[in-house]
Parts: sequence; C-alpha cells; structure tokens
Amino acid sequence: MGELMTDIQYLQGVGPKRAELLKRELGIFTLSDLIHLYPFRYIDRSTIQKIASLTPDLAYVQVQARVVSLNETPRKRLSVIVEDDTGRLELVFFKGIKWNKERLRPGMTFVFFGRPQEFNGHINIVHPEVDPPQEPGSQGTLTGVYPSTEKLKNAGVTGKVMCRMQAAALNLCLPEIQETLPEYILQDRGMVSLKYALANIHFPKDSYALQKATSRLKFEELFLLQLSLLKQKYVRSRSELGLVFNKVGTDFNSCYNSLPYDLTGAQKRVIREIRSDMMSGHQMNRLLQGDVGSGKTMVAVLSALIAIGNGFQACIMAPTEVLAQQHYANIQKYLAPTGVKCALLTGSTGTKDRRAIHEGLEDGSIGLIVGTHALLEDNVVFKSLGLAVIDEQHRFGVDQRSKLWSKGPVVGTAGSALERDRAILGIVRGRGPLRGVSEADVHSPEHSRQIPPHVLVMTATPIPRTLAMTLYGDLDVSVIDEMPPGRKPVKTMQISPAKKPAMYKFIEDEIARGRQVFIVYPLIFESEKMDLQNLQNGYEEIIRRFPMPKYKIAIVHGQQTNEEKNFNMSAFAEGRANILVSTTVIEVGVDVPNASVMVIEEAQRFGLSQLHQLRGRVGRGAEKSYCILVKDYKTTKEAQKRIDLMCATEDGFEIAEEDMKMRGPGDLEGTQQSGLPINLNIASLAKDGILLSEARAYAAKVLDDDPTLEKKENAKLVSELRKEKYSVKDYSKIS
Ligand code: ADP
Ligand code: MG
Repeated sequence: MGELMTDIQYLQGVGPKRAELLKRELGIFTLSDLIHLYPFRYIDRSTIQKIASLTPDLAYVQVQARVVSLNETPRKRLSVIVEDDTGRLELVFFKGIKWNKERLRPGMTFVFFGRPQEFNGHINIVHPEVDPPQEPGSQGTLTGVYPSTEKLKNAGVTGKVMCRMQAAALNLCLPEIQETLPEYILQDRGMVSLKYALANIHFPKDSYALQKATSRLKFEELFLLQLSLLKQKYVRSRSELGLVFNKVGTDFNSCYNSLPYDLTGAQKRVIREIRSDMMSGHQMNRLLQGDVGSGKTMVAVLSALIAIGNGFQACIMAPTEVLAQQHYANIQKYLAPTGVKCALLTGSTGTKDRRAIHEGLEDGSIGLIVGTHALLEDNVVFKSLGLAVIDEQHRFGVDQRSKLWSKGPVVGTAGSALERDRAILGIVRGRGPLRGVSEADVHSPEHSRQIPPHVLVMTATPIPRTLAMTLYGDLDVSVIDEMPPGRKPVKTMQISPAKKPAMYKFIEDEIARGRQVFIVYPLIFESEKMDLQNLQNGYEEIIRRFPMPKYKIAIVHGQQTNEEKNFNMSAFAEGRANILVSTTVIEVGVDVPNASVMVIEEAQRFGLSQLHQLRGRVGRGAEKSYCILVKDYKTTKEAQKRIDLMCATEDGFEIAEEDMKMRGPGDLEGTQQSGLPINLNIASLAKDGILLSEARAYAAKVLDDDPTLEKKENAKLVSELRKEKYSVKDYSKIS
C-alpha cells in the first residue's frame, strides 16, 4: 500500500503549493485520491467540425481555426475572431484576458473546444478551451477532461498538466491496485478488471475500451450501494417483528362494497401489496407514491380498515390542519357504512374534546384517528396501534416520523429472547386481537417488547423510480401509476404579465359559469418581506378588478393565525369565495373540485415539482381546467425550460425525471434529509437507470445465495461495504 497512500505533494510536478490547492479545491490528498478522480468527458480528437456547420443546439464542438483578429472592449470582454475554410466564428473571453491576448496571436491556428450559442443572431463560443492544432495525419485519440477550478488553472494545473499527473500516478499505483469485485461476478457479467478499468478510464485505448472501463466502474458503484441497502433491509426484516393481520374483516368489506366507484387497477394492486406485508409477520415499511389525485386516500382508508378488522387501531397523519380536516370529512363518509368510530385531533382541538379523544384512543373505542402533529404528543396513547399512515411524508421531520414507531403496542412473555419472540408472534398470530398490555402479558420489564405499528408513508412528489430504489432502498415502494377514470387534462399555458388583462377577462368568464380560481404567489424564505408585499399588491389588484359585493376573494398566507387561515381556506373550499389568493400553503392535498383555474404568478421562481403539485389542485372536477403560468422578464433559460415542460406534459413521473436531469438528484425535494450517499463518483442516478436496475437485481441475487455474505468468495464485498461511501443510515427507522 506504499504508493496509493503517498501524499500528493510528492508526485512529480506537484510540490507543496499545488498540493495545497489540490487538497483544498478537489479534496485530493493522496495518489489514490487522484487516480479516483475521473474525467467527466473526453475530447474526441478525431472529429473536428466546420465553422459553417455550427448550430446552437450542438452540445460541445471542436473546431480548428486560425486567429483573424482580437478586440478588447472597455467592459472587460475579449472578442476573438477565428476562421476556417468555411467561415468565421467569434470567441468570447471575460476572464484571463491578458493571457489569452498573449497566446492567441493573429495568424496562428488552434483547436477550440466549447459550447456554441446564439447571441444577437450569430454563433459564438464563450470561454472555449484552447489546444494546439492537430498534427497532420495524427490518429484520433480520446483525451480526458478533468474537473478543475479557476484557482487550479491559475496555478498552472491545466488540463494537460492534470493528464500528466494522472499518468505519473497511475504508473506508480497500478501495480498495487487490488481487485474489489469477486472473480465470479466479473466473469458472470463479462466485466474488465479494476486495473484495466482504471487505466482506460484515464487513458482510453479506444472508445470500446472506454466503454468497458466506464460500465465496470459504474456497475461496481451501483452494485455495492444496492448491496448495502438490500443487506440492511434483509437484516431488518429478520429482526423486526410485525403484527400479523390475517383477515380483512367486515368493516373493510362494508366500506369496499359501498364505494361509489370501482378502484383503479393500480389501487387494487397496491392494497394487495399492503395486505401481504401486513400478513408477513414482519413490520411493514412501505412508501406509496402516487401523483396528485391518484386516489391514495382510499388506499390509506382501506388499509386502516384491515388493521381495525384485526382488532387494532390506525392513525392517519397529515402535515396541515386544513388537510387533516379534509381527510377527516372524506373519511367519515367512507366509514359511514361501517361501525368504526373516527376522530380528528389537531392543534386546535379544544381541551374537552381532546380529553375525550385521548380516552377513546386509550380504551380502544376510537378505531381510526386522523390528525396533525398533535398525534405525536406524548399524552396520545393508543390501546393498540396497528397501522400508522403518514400523508405527504416529506413534510414531516425525521424525528416526528420516528415518534410514531414508539406508539405501537407492548407485549411481553417470559423466556429466552428466541422463545420470547416466538411467543410474541404467537400472541400476535394465534390469539388474534391484542388487548393492549395486560398485567399478565408482562412478566418483567425486560421481558416486554414493543411491536412497532405497520407504517405506510405516502407522497405525491413523484420520485423517479431509479432514485426511489436507492433513496428508499430498504423501504418497499408501491406506485399508483393510473389515474381514476374521467379526469380531464388540465390545459396549461404561459403568459407574460402584459397579457394579464386578457387573463382577468378569462377568469371573469369562468367565475360567471360558477367556477372558482386559485391565484398563487411565490414565497421564498430569503425575501419573505418582499414576497408578502407582492402578495398584498396582487391581492389589492384582484380586489380592484373583482370588486365586492359581486365577488368574494379569500386570502391565505403563512403570516396569518391558524384561525384566519382556516376561515379563508374553508370559505374557498365551501364555495363561498370565488378566488383564493395565496402563497404555496395550498400546495399540499387540498381538494376543491369546483376550482377550474390555477394561476401561478412569477412561475419562473417555482421548481418543477412545486409547479406540478400546484397544478394538481385543479382538474379534479368534471369541468375543463386551466393552469396559467405567468412569467416575467427575469425568466432564465432554465426556468423557461421548466415552464415549457409544464406546458408539454402532465405526467408527474416524466416531470420528476426531467427535474432530476436538470437539477441533479441531490437537489430533488425529499432527498436531502434522506442522509443517503448519493454523491457517487462515476455513476449517475439520473442517467444510469438501467444499469441501476441491473445492479439491484444482481445484488439481490448475491444476497439470495449468501444472505449474510459469509461465503469466502464474497469476502471482498464485505470489506468494500465497510467503506464510508456505502455505509447507509438506517433510513427505514426514521420514516
Ligand atoms: P391523492 O392521491 O392526491 O391523495 P385523493 O385520494 O384525494 O388523491 O383522490 C382524489 C379524488 O379522486 C378524490 O375525490 C377521490 O374521491 C377520487 N377517487 C379516488 N379513487 C377513485 C377511483 N378509483 N375512481 C374514481 N374516483 C376516485
Ligand atoms: Mg392526498
């Protein structure tokens, strides 16, 4: 292990000064760190485009051209005109002007590499890379381009210097490189060795070798990550006992049989998945993904009725008071044909009602409780909580979610740990309904054991499957990928503020037909004051345009008291207000089927998933619905892309997929708090979906054969999994 751990400063051509920079800028401390920094792209010297053929939609191009003239504007901008035998091209530099003026002498020829863009009707390239021209007749080769920073470039660590460093480091280190994957896996998948992969990821012999190297390194990364996640899941499912619900019960049937509609195929499938989890003897930990309006509530209710049918209680927790109320109102309707008692517990439940609810939960007379965070309080004690459903799970903090785990029933028997587990399972299985904890069940405190409730977390923020498989790698994921029949598409349009008078006319017509309208303003933390001002101004504008008493306008924002919020929200939900002006507080879950127009002001400031959620608030009724995205002059290219995508599709998964490509998985909603290592070195969760599925399937196969990885041929895997990169927190515990 001599060379790999050598300090980077001792590498030829580095020295203490550059070493310092490499450490600070790229986190490279040792030779090993260096050779694990891979090129993020390769320049193919064999393809050189002609200037006349450049268009702004080409990603990166390479041209070989002669410098014609240089022109420095007073505003620190160097414009360089170059030409080849087909035409002229402008290159633009904002930085390094002095250095570029020196090297780019008129008459000299270079190879320029960069991204062409259109500016004032002609094509230019900003900050191209500059290389010496190709030798006539030279072979095309692939040259790696490494991540770098301004400071490194200024210190002379150019692309070429980096390549030389890599070559020197590889020379020293390659003999020491140990294979990380077992031989049988390499053979099975026809993969190249680690040595070969490392050599060719830096200096590809040809494009075929590069492809073999890349796929080997990517597979390794994805495979080990999945192996780690699945192993954890396996361990957990062995150790975590679960309540066994072996019948559906009469309440389920009476609710099911009186539903005003047929469940969609997807709803039925998901309920089957949940049922089989709840019968397995292990605790269920399932994530239910389903686009807004896909009918997750019904799935939650029917699952709750299974728990209740087996003698347990269930709770459904929502992130806001308004949502909890709405759930409660809907659920009561569904429960009418059953004998199940349902209650609502929120922050604004009065003391007297609260006391009655606490009692009802403790004595078991309340079968289903709907509520907000209020459910998490310590004095909320269940007689026997069998299922906890968490709606819009990303709205809850990690601690809050874990609290529900501790509200499960406690059971106990005497005997060894193993006998005890068997006995507990026996109680749970054999005797059917648990009657909470009776004295007889608990022989001594250390012999009692708490059984966590089954947990179903629901989210309407669609996470691309590839990411879900990793983020929730040890959770089971169900997807409702089918909408209830009869939903009409929402027509989405984008307008500039100048078109607002026409929009108001349109709104007027919709209101005249009895429809309701949402108008949403952004509220972003840093500029909260200004945003509130915008909202106020917007509200006043609306009131002027839609005056009382003909029109009624409700307003909801975060600065209001709960009472004000509820008052305004209910006015709109119950059809007493024509327009609701609000911040994004309405994003989650609210159901107003009569609302047919969603106006989003300053749409350029919203993220894709937020826009999608907001649009999901309309199109819930029988009427044709509209979403109007108002974008102002500050709209950037990226924001415009988001808005265009919204106008092009309504498919939440497609939108999520694109969102991930645009932003990278690390920024997606719901991923940050997951604590999972999604900063992979070479594989991309956004782009390597197919390989990821293969890696997961392969990891499952390895674990099927050797669940604890104790076979000799898997020893390498065990030591790889010890690396920090693959050590994943027990995420299931915290959802
Ligand atoms: P979400 O998944 O966004 O929580 P909801 O559960 O609120 O969706 O359902 C949206 C609407 O669709 C509700 O009004 C509900 O009654 C209705 N719904 C649910 N399932 C079906 C179905 N299978 N057929 C018709 N309508 C349904
Ligand atoms: Mg919902």
